[in-house]
Amino acid sequence: MQQYTNYSLLQHNTFQMDVRAALYVEYNSVDELCKFLLSQEFENHRNKFIHIGAGSNLLFAGDYSGLVLHSAIRDLAVAEDTREHQLLRVGAGYVWDDFVAYCVGHELAGVENLSAIPGEVGASAVQNIGAYGVEVCDVIERVEAIDLQGNPRIFTKEECQYGYRDSIFKKELRGQYIITHVVYRLMKSPTFKLGYGDLRARVEAEGEPTLSAVRKAVTAIRDSKLPDPKKLGNAGSFFTNPVIPSEQYEVLKTQYPDMPSYPIDDTRVKVPAGWLIEHVGWKGRALGRAAVHDRQALVLVNKGGATGKEVMQLAHRISEDIYAQYGIRVVPEVNYIQ
Ligand SMILES: Cc1cc2nc3c(=O)[nH]c(=O)nc-3n(C[C@H](O)[C@H](O)[C@H](O)COP(=O)(O)OP(=O)(O)OC[C@H]3O[C@@H](n4cnc5c(N)ncnc54)[C@H](O)[C@@H]3O)c2cc1C
Repeated sequence: MQQYTNYSLLQHNTFQMDVRAALYVEYNSVDELCKFLLSQEFENHRNKFIHIGAGSNLLFAGDYSGLVLHSAIRDLAVAEDTREHQLLRVGAGYVWDDFVAYCVGHELAGVENLSAIPGEVGASAVQNIGAYGVEVCDVIERVEAIDLQGNPRIFTKEECQYGYRDSIFKKELRGQYIITHVVYRLMKSPTFKLGYGDLRARVEAEGEPTLSAVRKAVTAIRDSKLPDPKKLGNAGSFFTNPVIPSEQYEVLKTQYPDMPSYPIDDTRVKVPAGWLIEHVGWKGRALGRAAVHDRQALVLVNKGGATGKEVMQLAHRISEDIYAQYGIRVVPEVNYIQ
């Protein structure tokens, strides 16, 4: 276990916030984690702590006066192998995209559309990451976690209550469990999902679809659209796409005929937050050192030296403008850490 005081988090958040944690602890095993949770050190910090992954969905308002925990559990093992599928049990600290590369390299299907999403395995199960028509809950079998008293618990997929970028770990169990391993079900014969954007055209340009062709195409599309956090600090999509009642959408559509929507069920539709941001005039605009990306309105960026508070102010202004014009509330997907 490694433990540091007054520790720089600059390398641990993709927004490139130059902030410090009062205490940073990284553990290497479930055993080490349990021992730490029972220690006086943890007791002293129980009231203010956060568990992070790669910090690609976090926005620190400033220095963090509590404890930051991080998992270095990075094992990967086959938990079950049948003719149709493999269950893979993966440590929470495993880099998500390395896991996707492993699956594609072993001809295991299910996560190829989720290529190149920053972050680690543990957070994938918290955030229910999604892209190109696939959500990680489609392949999650179970989640292994430890409560703050050091007791293990296994959550079935149903118990995780997955929804759009949502899970029980973001709601009633927020901050109450630490995920140590995730078990994924990968299929041996792929069912390709190529219906999003120009994915099909790109994949088929290479010939018959393969897992590696999908991975390559998804990575290329993402590279062309999203700013690289190493060059321009950001946390991907800043807001979730708002879900509104179909009736409200029908009224808005009479006034804004080009407003896009995606049906959720018979009574609700999803409206792209990027469209709303662009149409209230924020695309490419800055507020101090925080800005809205000029190619991707859903991405807020740190132009250099911005503080978390500046980014939060920008997000607040955008959200108020959208509400004033459309009566729709956009909510940050990014976790604010105060
Ligand atoms: C350029 C860019 C593109 C992105 N594109 C996408 C995308 O296409 N789709 C998408 O869904 N997301 C996307 N994201 C967001 C981000 O990649 C995901 O939310 C990712 O899952 C965050 O992983 P992380 O390890 O960085 O978690 P962090 O940001 O460090 O943490 C996220 C949350 O998970 C919790 N957490 C982390 N680890 C654990 C653990 N072991 N136990 C309990 N709780 C834990 C944290 O407390 C926090 O609440 C993008 C981000 C960037 C920067």
